[in-house]
Amino acid sequence: MKIAFLGLGIMGRPMASNLVKAGHEVSVWNRSARQHVEGARTAVSPADAALEADVVWLCVADTAAVERVMFAEDGVEKSLREGMIVVDSSTISPSAALRFAEKVNAKGVHWVDAPVTGSKIGAESAQLIFIVGGAPEPVEYLQPLFKSMGKQVIHIGDTGKGQAAKLCMNLMIALIYEGFAEAYTLAQKQGVDPHKLIELIQASMVRSGVVDYKAPFVLRHDYSPNFPLRLMHKDIHLMLDAAKESRVKLPALETVDEIYELSSEEGWNNLDFAATLALLQKWAGLGGQPKVTPPE
Ligand code: NAP
Repeated sequence: MKIAFLGLGIMGRPMASNLVKAGHEVSVWNRSARQHVEGARTAVSPADAALEADVVWLCVADTAAVERVMFAEDGVEKSLREGMIVVDSSTISPSAALRFAEKVNAKGVHWVDAPVTGSKIGAESAQLIFIVGGAPEPVEYLQPLFKSMGKQVIHIGDTGKGQAAKLCMNLMIALIYEGFAEAYTLAQKQGVDPHKLIELIQASMVRSGVVDYKAPFVLRHDYSPNFPLRLMHKDIHLMLDAAKESRVKLPALETVDEIYELSSEEGWNNLDFAATLALLQKWAGLGGQPKVTPPE
């Protein structure tokens, strides 16, 4: 299959690379030109990347980035042909996804939202879970591509529903991690060995994939970005916007948003969101200056 892959960040680069490894003909484009993917053609613009593609796959930072890549002067829109499929693995506003879908549908092009979970490790090891919103026909057609990059596809419903479900899931990740961060900080202050605390958490009913993933990094004070704080903060704002639209109150998330706001003011935007724990440690007089491992 001919695929255009746009956005070569923490997630996009290994995803595009896995498509190449699966034998697809891939054209890539990234806003800053320094990124390349071995075996793929490097395009000069989103429109150039999409020129002969059957499928255009996006994995960029946020709603504004998707809008730019799709509809700017040199955007994908210029190269759309009837029957093409645009797949968006960025996490964006569900209502914006519907708006973008409507625009491409008018040209006979399908829009499938397919945000992911699994983080950097999942992207690198082709173990992502795709959270999909779209019509059954294009979703079925995309199965081999999902398989090249992931281990599971959960088809939630129509366009936009993938993004909505992804935000609800990330809401839980933010709250579970905050619960862990508060327990960890109090335990430290009470003189409990952090390794023992994690052993207890992992043995008990509060065990969580979030803690399993983050605890080894926290124990090393290593906040190198797997899922950068700025992106989780972006998602928290998307969740709060969706809650407002749906007239739902999310009081715990509003408090967590303040923690992200203050962590961002500390200059930790490009660290992993796990660095929010360092703020609690700082308040508790436990030091808590986050570290980053140097890039390989
Ligand atoms: P990232 O490393 O920050 O990469 C973001 C990508 O978007 C880069 O290619 C960046 O280009 C591009 N971009 C940003 N603003 C742009 C704009 N205005 N126009 C065009 N391109 C733009 O982010 P990531 O971790 O790969 O995440 C990508 C998406 O997946 C996000 O929506 C994120 O929320 C979601 N996600 C991430 C994770 C994770 O663990 N990292 C997990 C699940 C979902 P430059 O290189 O030029 O900056």
